[in-house]
Amino acid sequence: FPSAPPHMRAIWDIAQLHGDKTYIVFEDERYTYAEIGAQVRSLANHLRDVHGVGSGDRVAIAMRNYPEWVVSYWAIACLGAAAVGMNAWWTGPEMAYGLGDSKPKVLIADDERVERVLPELDALRAEAPLHIMSVRSDRELPDDSSRWADVVKPDEAPATLPDADIDPDDDVTIFYTSGTTGFPKGAQLTHRGSVHNIMNIVFMTMVAGAAEAKAVEAGELPAPEPAPADADPAAPPVFLAPTPLFHVTANNCLLQPCTMAGGAIVFMYKWDAGRAIELIEREKVTNFSGVPTMSREMLMHEDWSLRDTSSLKSMGGGGAAIQPDLVDKIDKSLKGGVPSTGYGLTETHGIVTANSAKLYTAKPASCGRIVPTLEGRLEDEAGNVLEPGPNVVGELCVRGAIVIKGYLNRPDATADSIRDGWFHTGDIARIDEDGFVFIVDRAKDMVIRGGENVYCTEVEAAIYEHPAVAEAAVFGKPDDRLGEEVVAAVVTRPGESLDQDELSAFLAERLAKFKIPSTVWFRDEPLPRNANGKFVKRDLKDELLGTA
Ligand code: ATP
Repeated sequence: FPSAPPHMRAIWDIAQLHGDKTYIVFEDERYTYAEIGAQVRSLANHLRDVHGVGSGDRVAIAMRNYPEWVVSYWAIACLGAAAVGMNAWWTGPEMAYGLGDSKPKVLIADDERVERVLPELDALRAEAPLHIMSVRSDRELPDDSSRWADVVKPDEAPATLPDADIDPDDDVTIFYTSGTTGFPKGAQLTHRGSVHNIMNIVFMTMVAGAAEAKAVEAGELPAPEPAPADADPAAPPVFLAPTPLFHVTANNCLLQPCTMAGGAIVFMYKWDAGRAIELIEREKVTNFSGVPTMSREMLMHEDWSLRDTSSLKSMGGGGAAIQPDLVDKIDKSLKGGVPSTGYGLTETHGIVTANSAKLYTAKPASCGRIVPTLEGRLEDEAGNVLEPGPNVVGELCVRGAIVIKGYLNRPDATADSIRDGWFHTGDIARIDEDGFVFIVDRAKDMVIRGGENVYCTEVEAAIYEHPAVAEAAVFGKPDDRLGEEVVAAVVTRPGESLDQDELSAFLAERLAKFKIPSTVWFRDEPLPRNANGKFVKRDLKDELLGTA
């Protein structure tokens, strides 16, 4: 696997074998592999013939999770060019920043994004030519623009893709790190890294399946319920993708393995827990993978028990710490399915570790073992390599083909995070005797209170154990005496009430005194999130301190 070269065009060639199987579901639209394949050939030939797009060029994509995102991605990748996945939440000036940084030949954008970028266009075009191709938009366009419907003609698509000369180490995607902690940097993802990530996901799924089967055989787990008589054992998986395609979570960890496996992928116009539950029932979704808050919202939703979600074989995700109570809730709520997680970063093309099924419920605080094509180690602040042990925490550093090439136009930032081939994740971790990784906190999130390290994820996990809590985020605020104080922003579940004294008493049974938040900020509004659905602690901190 795969017998073809390690580039994404080979993955797309394999996907063409899936022909008439359903590939993409978006609201009421459905497309087979063959239908999307014809669109990809049409767009790729157009981009090459009309815009001269080829190896070394870039094409930006700025839109919701429309099927056109997927068509654009594969057309660009198969030409040997790089797809710049622009954050759909960006304002006009932010889009101008990303376009100015990546200098694509063409921007493929939906109506909202076209509206935002038009005021920036003259300034951008003064620096480099930029062609706009609009998607699902009737808006009037400036000269030298085109409309998707006029140029992508699947019925007239050429029978083949244009030839392309692809080096596995060429960029295939530029993703801007989501910026929950700073100004976005364009991570350069390669063909080789993307193929390795797919391989790692397949491998980790097989390992989890084997561990589960062994546990059943040993009588440690009940045998799975027999499949219904009419079930097709070879039925392809159905993935629900609730997060945006301009992050590795949806693109590299869902869309790409799904494409390899001939599965269907279901997109939503925007995240809504009730709608997600409805889609799971309607499309018989087998795999749900989002940020942890999404699983939590679904399990708390009144429709969860009313709808048939028995098709789910795995539920969970990553992108942020999953609290052990949630792993347990997922395990108990699924009928025949298992909880799963992956830990990773944009800079690693996808997953660094994965954990699922019995291995996960046995160690619910661990994000799992490191994927096979990656080496991992812990370093202290001075860069010394640490010997893993029960009480040893250090920065997790990784080396292998899934580490990005670097950050676009940012040699300093690249040299700072990739040293001697080792990528410094910025995450503080512990590794146990079985090789399971525990992410203790992000180095930049850790609170140092009076010289004691407080790991926010540990405090958050304890707060989530309280049944009245719907959302929680812990962070530090400056304090004259202690350096920093621990603050918790908490949203309670509808109809539930909680005050600081009650929460503190609850936490006192679980945490040392210095870790208990001195300020609990109860909020009526949901906590601020980024486009991926992760809480943005920086915004909370700014709001609390009045520094926004
Ligand atoms: P920025 O790097 O600009 O702050 P970001 O961190 O949100 O943005 P991503 O690459 O999307 O960018 O997120 C990677 C980070 O998410 C990891 O470094 C880690 O802190 C966190 N993370 C991802 N998956 C998990 C997981 N399963 N458990 C714990 N933390 C996770």
